[in-house]
Order: sequence, then structure tokens, then C-alpha cells
Amino acid sequence: MPFYIGYGFDPAYLVVVLVALVLGTAAQGYIRSTYRKWSQVDAGIPGTGADVARQMLADGGANDVGITRVAGSLTDHYDPRDNTLHLSDDNYRGASVASVAVACHEAGHAIQAAQGYGFYRLRSALVPVVSVAENSWILVLLAGVFLNLAGLVQLAIVLFAAAVVFQVVTLPVEIDASRRAVAYLSARGSGLDEKGARSVLTAAALTYVAAALTSLMQLVYLLGRYGGRDD
Ligand SMILES: [Zn+2]
Repeated sequence: MPFYIGYGFDPAYLVVVLVALVLGTAAQGYIRSTYRKWSQVDAGIPGTGADVARQMLADGGANDVGITRVAGSLTDHYDPRDNTLHLSDDNYRGASVASVAVACHEAGHAIQAAQGYGFYRLRSALVPVVSVAENSWILVLLAGVFLNLAGLVQLAIVLFAAAVVFQVVTLPVEIDASRRAVAYLSARGSGLDEKGARSVLTAAALTYVAAALTSLMQLVYLLGRYGGRDD
């Protein structure tokens, strides 16, 4: 979610955009290559990603969760609104370490929901607030800058900060879902499954870390540029 508010040339702004671009591209490249590598290794557990996720859900006491397919690559997610794992075709049908790891990570989210895991509940509670904040902060900032209203600029920074808090709260939720997936695979699969799942899920977590760092950097920039203005 980069922002492109040009108000004269600002080298600090250019640095923020470049660092965000490099971090984001590096994280995306790392997850793609790690995923590709472990897509070629068969998991030691019989069944596809969907099958193994189903077993993990049953073990975790989340039997009422649905599993369906979704188009695209690495589009996998758990949607609490329909209480369903949406697995990309490759992971739904595939039996590789990568497929099983991603499917079990999503099952981990469904189990977090079923068990009322604290950070998961906090993140869910923030969703409605944050979707408004994410969509409106840039417009509020532009309006504040062009109308020269300090109150609007400060409101924009508060809205952006809410989105940053959300990204930070997302981190323990993601790490916990991966921890659950790795624990399940290490108990049921081979040592190779555990190693591969750990690599794939760590790479996936790094994309969230990169996104959170980028947003934090943007927040620091916004505070530095607009935070002290009292005109
Ligand atoms: Zn996740």
C-alpha cells in the first residue's frame, strides 16, 4: 500500500518508496522460489493438501470448516465469513511439501478461529475499522494538504497508524498459524516435511514482515513530514 503524494520533490520520500519496493520485491521473490523448490518434493503424508488440512482440522476440533478451491497461485486463505478454507488449485490437489504446508497453515487459521485465539480475535475485531482507514487515509491527507487544514492531516496520520497497528497484529496471527502447521506435520509426517514446511512458511511470513516494516517506515515519514505542522 504505497502512497504517492507528490508535493514538491522530497529525497526522503524517494528513499521510502525505493526501500519499500526493494523489500517487497525481495520478499515476493523469496516466497516464490522457496515455494517452487518444495513443490517438487513429495510430502511424507498420504493425501493432497486438502486431505491433510481436513485431518488437521479434525484433530484441532474444527470439523465444521469447509474446504474449497480458489483460482490463482498462492491465493490460499481462510475466510471466517463462510468458515471455509479457500485453497489454490495447486495446493488443493497437490501432495507436495509446499502444498501440504500451505493447506495446513490455512487450517491453522480456522483452528485459531474455532479456539478463540486472542490475537486472531483482536485482528478480526480490527477488520471493519481498518478497511475504512485503509481506503480513506490518502484522500483525507490530500484534502488536508491542499486545503491546508492541520486537523485533517492529523486525522489522516491516525487513520494510517490504525492500518499499521493492524499489520503488526497480523504478524503473531500468521506466525501462530505456521507454528500449528509445522507442529502438525512434524507429528504426522517426516523430518523432511517439517524442514520444508518451516522454510515455506517462514518465507511466507517474511512477506508480512516486509509489508509491516514498509508501513512503519511510511508512518515515520508521515510523522516527520506532517506530524509537527501546526498551520
Ligand atoms: Zn495466514
